[in-house]
Amino acid sequence: MTATAGSVWLDAAYLVTGILFILGLRFLSSPATARFGNRIAAVGMLIGLLSTLIGTGIVSWWIVIVGVVIGTLVGLVAALRVKMTAMPQMVALFNGAGGGAAALVSTAEFLFRMQGASFAHGIALPYDQGLTIVLSAIIGSISFAGSIIAFLKLQEVMTGRPITYVGQQIVNGLIALATVAFAAFIVTLHGTPEPLWPFFAMLGGALVLGVLFVLPIGGADMPVIISLLNSFTGLAVALTGLALANNVLIISGALVGASGTLLTILMSRAMNRSLFNVLFGAFGAVSSAGATAAGGPQNIRTATVDDVATMLAYANQVIVVPGYGMAVAQAQHSVKKLADELEKRGVTVKYAIHPVAGRMPGHMNVLLAEANVPYPALYDMDDINPEFPQTDVALVIGANDVTNPAARNVASSPIYGMPILDVDKAGNVVVLKRSMRSGFAGIDNPLYEMPNTMMLFGDAKASVDDLVGAVKAA
Ligand code: NDP
Repeated sequence: MTATAGSVWLDAAYLVTGILFILGLRFLSSPATARFGNRIAAVGMLIGLLSTLIGTGIVSWWIVIVGVVIGTLVGLVAALRVKMTAMPQMVALFNGAGGGAAALVSTAEFLFRMQGASFAHGIALPYDQGLTIVLSAIIGSISFAGSIIAFLKLQEVMTGRPITYVGQQIVNGLIALATVAFAAFIVTLHGTPEPLWPFFAMLGGALVLGVLFVLPIGGADMPVIISLLNSFTGLAVALTGLALANNVLIISGALVGASGTLLTILMSRAMNRSLFNVLFGAFGAVSSAGATAAGGPQNIRTATVDDVATMLAYANQVIVVPGYGMAVAQAQHSVKKLADELEKRGVTVKYAIHPVAGRMPGHMNVLLAEANVPYPALYDMDDINPEFPQTDVALVIGANDVTNPAARNVASSPIYGMPILDVDKAGNVVVLKRSMRSGFAGIDNPLYEMPNTMMLFGDAKASVDDLVGAVKAA
């Protein structure tokens, strides 16, 4: 095909978009530059969108403007109103929208080709294009339906626990086989104008598969599955790009697919689970039975604000261990004030960041960055763990699962093998939480019964604020 002036500038705009996406990802890899990365990726998206809409002239200006206004409003409201703790649900929804869009575009492209076929000049859908269209439709549909179920689970509209039943894998296997059979039928017929029902049967099969695929997943595995569905969406988008010969879709889909896959692998590793075990292990289905059978920790010691303040004020080193509870309480600014007070007194304060603390990757980094905690004070799990034995106080602020020593030494624990922050090895452990309730994984934490552990009950922000006052007075 000879390049026209129009196609040359469109390709140039796509190239700029691709470069901005890649730079955006690069900058996203450090908390110090993440905001900038997000912004330049957003500019890349705007260039990609506008150049496609203008350059290809598929829709009128009015439709472009209405679409941009609606999209901007939804994005703005979501960004302003959705709480940080509800971010995983929002990511699931956005991801589902991406997968659904890829499936819809593939469906439209298939119907368009079929329309051409009925005018009867032979093959409407060569094998390669047929294959990319059906794959994109299947993977996009799985991602769409799976993401909706993930959203409903995380939003607690339905139970977050794994839903399992006898013969589940066999049912899933049969539906997968039927879906593949329909796809093969469509591809091998290469689009001779046959009835369209096999295509829609294939789509239906993929949607049901998406639902059934996520139902048995629960507990602490939801973030991994959202990341995996994200990589599915990327793959579906890249395949749609191949079917439409659209470079920007191929580039952006490949970037999303690759980064989603890497994140999935990293998160599985952080939980010490194989991806196979995450997908088919129904984690959490039996966890509460095994872990809370004894009726929860009994022998705990509670501390007063003054006890803890004195301990902190006269420590050499304090390691702050933030978790989901710090996010719920929005205690990050108070935590920074407390650290400032301690540092004024010569105490070294470090922050221990577990890769799955909170409810999304990087959750703690984002919150602490918002409170202007300097990045060098944030330590990854592997770097900080050797420091706990030389630390006077590990101050656990709304973290639970990521500090649970059962992961290290109770072989029957559902989280056995998950790497944790070794807070129990510190001289003293102070745990700030509201009650003896369990964390996300729904299991008891033997840390609370250890002789060097004290509990300071209350909302994390209120407790930390009280500690700031008490340290000043100490
Ligand atoms: P957990 O969910 O294990 O524990 C959080 C603790 O915070 C709870 O025990 C709760 O106890 C306490 N808490 C809640 N609100 C407050 C408050 N206002 N003030 C004080 N304490 C509060 O959190 P972790 O960060 O330790 O672990 C994260 C868990 O979430 C892991 O199981 C992880 O696998 C999972 N997960 C991680 C995601 C990620 O990508 N990071 C995403 C989704 C899940 P109480 O109610 O008694 O106050």
